[in-house]
Amino acid sequence: MSANKKLLFLPGDGIGPEVMGQVHRVIEWMDRRRHICFDVTEDLVGGAAIDAQGTSLTDETLSAAMSVDAVLLGAVGGPKWDNVARDIRPEAGLLKLRKEMDLFANLRPATVIPALAGASTLKSEFISGLDMLILRELTSGIYFGKPCGISERDDGTSEALDTQRYTSTEIERIVRVGFEIAGKRERVLHSVEKANVMETGVLWRQITSKVSEDYPSIELHHMYADNCAMQLVRAPKQFDVIVTDNLFGDILSDCAAMLTGSLGMLPSASLGNADESGRRMAMYEPVHGSAPDIAGEDSANPLATILSFAMMLQYSFDDSDNADLIKNAVSQVLARGLRTSDIMQDGMKLVSCSQMGEALCMELDRLAA
Ligand code: NAD
Repeated sequence: MSANKKLLFLPGDGIGPEVMGQVHRVIEWMDRRRHICFDVTEDLVGGAAIDAQGTSLTDETLSAAMSVDAVLLGAVGGPKWDNVARDIRPEAGLLKLRKEMDLFANLRPATVIPALAGASTLKSEFISGLDMLILRELTSGIYFGKPCGISERDDGTSEALDTQRYTSTEIERIVRVGFEIAGKRERVLHSVEKANVMETGVLWRQITSKVSEDYPSIELHHMYADNCAMQLVRAPKQFDVIVTDNLFGDILSDCAAMLTGSLGMLPSASLGNADESGRRMAMYEPVHGSAPDIAGEDSANPLATILSFAMMLQYSFDDSDNADLIKNAVSQVLARGLRTSDIMQDGMKLVSCSQMGEALCMELDRLAA
């Protein structure tokens, strides 16, 4: 891997800065022990940016995000900004980043780490060994479709409207990413929609079937979204890669996430199209939010953010060796019984956010020795 990759860190709000602080430790470790150097710059997003700059994402921050090799984001939002105008609220900054960077492919792995199998609400026989990935379309569909809004009707009642819209191009590009990822994993792809009741589902199914002709070695299954939700809790190990739209992906990935037992453990990646030189815009972030209830306590679980950094190594820098090293270190630290409060179990040792980061680096030392 070549040196001095350019990264932009956007810690954001709440526990964002605390969990990102532990990634700095891992980066220092990579520099010291693996001689991999990153140029890291840091900027504001979300509520922190509203307070300092009057908007949740400035144009300067956006262009910085578009010029680096990868962005790592903590989390945005909190009660302090619940009543700010809708177009500048913390989440608007995050949505704008995703939209402007055209990060259409959202990858959310749901992996059960052996030491945490008992933390799931499902019986461990159903989830132990689970290692699946949900690929969600992120920049189109019902969250972006126009027209949308709430209006008054002539009879004095109100009406709300959202529009689910997908073009064949948007469907094809996300589905292709699904086939590519499936090809590097177990070669089984589930495409999820509701072709029985939605026109976008009909088009989704047609395009997916057509694209599958280019990937004859991948086993393709079409599945309705409601059935998929049921199958995820009935027999999740039948899945390896699921590709689906923005709305279904939002819901199903939260459901899959909970199979693993903890929000504080879940990383994600959002990728754009590769340009001619192979460069791809990318943003990595933990699935959890800013957890205002525990912000500032040094008690947050930093592992989702550290695992997001591992995904960055894998998908932006093609460095699976160091990504696997970090994932192994996470498994080992948990196997040694260290737990932050969100994943605390009887007989385990409670540690703070910074102690978890420190323990992880010591584990990296051991594994790299
Ligand atoms: P949340 O994920 O912030 O918190 C849900 C619960 O999980 C809380 O009890 C919290 O303490 C706990 N939790 C979350 N992450 C944790 C971690 N790393 N370690 C330990 N415990 C953790 O969701 P919420 O409470 O619904 O939302 C809080 C704020 O975050 C809201 O303003 C929301 O809009 C925002 N949010 C942001 C993002 C994002 O930035 N991508 C995602 C979801 C929610």
